[in-house]
Amino acid sequence: MRTQVGIVGAGPAGLLLAQMLHQRGIDAVVLEARSRAHVESRIRAGLLEQGAVETMDEAGVAGRLHRDGLVHHGLQLRFGGQGHRVDLSGLTGGKVVTIYGQQEAVKDMIAIRLAAGLPLHFEVDDVAVHDIATARPRITWRQDGQDRALDCDVIAGCDGFHGICRPSIPPAALTVFDRAYPFAWLGILSRSPPMSEELVYARHADGFALATMRSRSVSRLYLQCAPDEDLSAWSDDRIWSALRRRLGDTLEEGPILQKGVTAMRSFVAEPMRHGRLFLAGDAAHIVPPTGAKGMNLAIADVRVLVCALEAFFAGRGEALMDAYSATCLDRVWKVQRFSWWMTQLLHRYDDHDAFEERVRMAELDYLAGSTAALTTLAENYVGLPYAV
Ligand SMILES: Cc1cc2nc3c(=O)[nH]c(=O)nc-3n(C[C@H](O)[C@H](O)[C@H](O)COP(=O)(O)OP(=O)(O)OC[C@H]3O[C@@H](n4cnc5c(N)ncnc54)[C@H](O)[C@@H]3O)c2cc1C
Repeated sequence: MRTQVGIVGAGPAGLLLAQMLHQRGIDAVVLEARSRAHVESRIRAGLLEQGAVETMDEAGVAGRLHRDGLVHHGLQLRFGGQGHRVDLSGLTGGKVVTIYGQQEAVKDMIAIRLAAGLPLHFEVDDVAVHDIATARPRITWRQDGQDRALDCDVIAGCDGFHGICRPSIPPAALTVFDRAYPFAWLGILSRSPPMSEELVYARHADGFALATMRSRSVSRLYLQCAPDEDLSAWSDDRIWSALRRRLGDTLEEGPILQKGVTAMRSFVAEPMRHGRLFLAGDAAHIVPPTGAKGMNLAIADVRVLVCALEAFFAGRGEALMDAYSATCLDRVWKVQRFSWWMTQLLHRYDDHDAFEERVRMAELDYLAGSTAALTTLAENYVGLPYAV
């Protein structure tokens, strides 16, 4: 088998890339390790920057997003027992963010690809990439008990943090920046109306909490917890009472549909390209979810990669492919900074450095009262301008 772009991974990055390449007449084959049902039901991110929605619009995959997505013009910061609204639209010349579950976006893109009869293989095993430093890289895998191989011009490693593409790059060719945080998030999905029309980010003496949503009847709620938190120690009652303490009494309870612990990490692998292998999304970088940036950053990488591949396959040379990593990393590091900043500002640190604690409270107080500081938060939250 042969294709122009072999894509490893059918998450937001791989599926969007495949669709945008298809729009430009570039062939791609997508290989996904898990089943369709699994990737369509994996609860993860849910907040899209304005530019991410526009990108999905341009890609022709935003129909249901516009019907079912919830447009938000602001958010609330809670600290010292009080709420402070951040007018995202007012501070950014009218920009908004949209709540739409990642798994819904994934469902939409899978349906569009399969309806068009384009290649997307689920449940592939033993995926490996070969000859990535040459002009004829190859992907091999096992499917239905048979060995398969795909010759490509380019391979896109969109296989997330635990995928095989990044580890296929010789370690000496990569520089890794990694920071683990001394806390995690215990997240629940609950059949209950959101506590507020907008997201609530709370800093509380017990730790951070976030109230967000997936629809008008399904809430997504998070609590700061230990990185090795034992979920079995958290009964539904204990979860709801911890959430109420941190977020306030207006929180409505409902049946918990799903719960899990999400690790908090900042990670960047540089460069995001080795020969003809290009990494995009979580395969190259991870942000702590506080700034809601993981899926948005994956979409931003894909935009840059599509431009580079379009130029390459149109015979306009490799200059944009050569610039791919630097162009992406410029945004990646700005988003890393913002995600780190939101995380350290809003979480409780158990080593309890009293000085830093006071500085964080002073910063929050300043933030809430300063249009300049709030504008910085708002323009990062709705999404920085794209390079391409
Ligand atoms: C558990 C979890 C919870 C998260 N929660 C939040 C959140 O609450 N809020 C937030 O803003 N962000 C969250 N994120 C981040 C956000 O979901 C990611 O940034 C986003 O999924 C990145 O998209 P991606 O396409 O790069 O990677 P992924 O979505 O990880 O997609 C990678 C795909 O590659 C597949 N794959 C892996 N290995 C192979 C292989 N060897 N061969 C073939 N396919 C392979 C995987 O099955 C997967 O489908 C979370 C991430 C995780 C992992």
